[in-house]
Amino acid sequence: RIAYVNGQYVQHADAAVHIEDRGFQFADGVYEVCEVRAGMIVDLTRHLNRLDRSLSELRMAQPMSRAALTHVIREVLRRNHVKNGIFYMQVTRGAARRDHFFPAEGTPPTITITAKNTDPSVVAKKYANGIKVITLPENRWDRVDIKTVGLLPNVLAKQQARDAGAADAIYVDRNGIVMEGASSNVWIVTPQGELVTRPAEHGILRGITRTTVIDVAAKLGLKVVEREFKTEDMLNAREVFFSSATGICVPIVEIDGKTVANGHPGTISASIRDAFFDIAEKTAI
Ligand code: PLP
Repeated sequence: RIAYVNGQYVQHADAAVHIEDRGFQFADGVYEVCEVRAGMIVDLTRHLNRLDRSLSELRMAQPMSRAALTHVIREVLRRNHVKNGIFYMQVTRGAARRDHFFPAEGTPPTITITAKNTDPSVVAKKYANGIKVITLPENRWDRVDIKTVGLLPNVLAKQQARDAGAADAIYVDRNGIVMEGASSNVWIVTPQGELVTRPAEHGILRGITRTTVIDVAAKLGLKVVEREFKTEDMLNAREVFFSSATGICVPIVEIDGKTVANGHPGTISASIRDAFFDIAEKTAI
């Protein structure tokens, strides 16, 4: 496998950054994960737009032009023979002697990109059977709209889910409002047939898949409502599902040990998933 590190294509096993990288010491960095399907990058423009926004919210400079970045991404995918998989890119504020203040002007950012093919049977199993989740109290900072590498709460939440025999966790705030999953956005289909997801102005990451699912739903003639909902609304829903770049739409069939609907994946999430790739932006590798 090949990785990209600060201008060089290197063997994945040898890919390294400095021990005083600010990503390592302060989680002072941002990232994106994109899906590659049938040799196409899905929704690249939206992911790059969100990367720009994350960088600007942290007052970090663009590491390179969009054209150059797109070229490097394609090159990493090509060198790793990725046809169906993902790539991961991370930009940090660079390496500098440890000090909370921003490093000196002109300190180059650290940019790394990795890519891999993924096993289609893993996600196919989730589509066929659905997944179990647990709910957890929201305990993250209030800027989760920025896609930073500061994911310690998410790491602990996912592990807590696994330890409880579930696949993932959903954050719920102190008023019982559902926020999002530990690495995905949450959707419900209400008993009235509305497709609901919470607003993304604050408190959650505005998922790229979430945005494209809104487009897909419109094409399918489904009504999308952006409004807050609670855990009990998930338990009373016809369907509950996650959206994320790595799974598109993953059905949730059990929440905190309670069955959702009839305990089987629903048809709405499946039809959105089927239509998703046709409607998403596709950039040839
Ligand atoms: N919410 C969180 C906390 C995430 O980490 C992610 C993706 O990793 C998402 C939502 C979904 O975003 P996207 O659809 O862009 O993958």
